[in-house]
Amino acid sequence: MDWDNVRADVHAPLTEHFTPGRQGRRIRGVTVHHMAGNLTIDQCRSVWEGSPTSAHYAVQADGRIGQMVDDADTAWACGNWDANLETISVEFANDRFGPWTVGAKALDAGAHLVAALCRCYGLGRPRWMANVFPHRHWSPTQCPGELAGSQNAELMRLCGEWYDYMAGAGSAPGGDDMLRDENLNKPGGGTVPADQAVAWGYYYAKCAKEYLDEMSGQVEEIAKRSATPVSPEAVARALMEHGGLKVDIDYEKLAKAVNDDAARRMAE
Ligand SMILES: [Zn+2]
Repeated sequence: MDWDNVRADVHAPLTEHFTPGRQGRRIRGVTVHHMAGNLTIDQCRSVWEGSPTSAHYAVQADGRIGQMVDDADTAWACGNWDANLETISVEFANDRFGPWTVGAKALDAGAHLVAALCRCYGLGRPRWMANVFPHRHWSPTQCPGELAGSQNAELMRLCGEWYDYMAGAGSAPGGDDMLRDENLNKPGGGTVPADQAVAWGYYYAKCAKEYLDEMSGQVEEIAKRSATPVSPEAVARALMEHGGLKVDIDYEKLAKAVNDDAARRMAE
């Protein structure tokens, strides 16, 4: 998922069951839906191919996102033509029914998507009933279940935090041990103590297999920002081996690098 440019993991546009263009109307919000089921992107697409209904995006349970109607086009989603013309519809996979709830991964990825859309279309920070609406606001329906009920506060918290994070004004929301680390999420610059850097080194070491390239880039960055001359190799070794690392590090920059990395992993 390319959040900054809102490019979905899967781009598989429908050939019918939507209206090309938006009849001159401006996008002014996002409409939140639930699938009333735990469907994959492919299954959503099949449903929408087989009946006169659609949405722009589907967020499946593992957080993977598919786009089936382009933002510039009008999905048949809200049971209300003005809402179809003026909002972008996002479908969340459910993890349970009675009542319909959404699992953590889909909730987080969907919130990130809502934030990215609000940012992309200049709609401002996501706010419920201001620029983020439940399907049931537009027409009589139970949709989107608990996303408009017991899970609404969590949904909107994540939307807001992802929005701030994307705007460079905050940390990525929790969902990962490192992200929950209160030091890591502490805003502001300054320096980080060596033992903290070593802990992060362990974190990178843990994901080193997948993120070797990013890691070496970040190690280089740390080395560059050290108060005393130090080679990237030395930083890497110290980080990996839990050695006594004695360098000053730009806290904000490193925290952002860690959060970016963790967010990327969460998005995959
Ligand atoms: Zn709906």
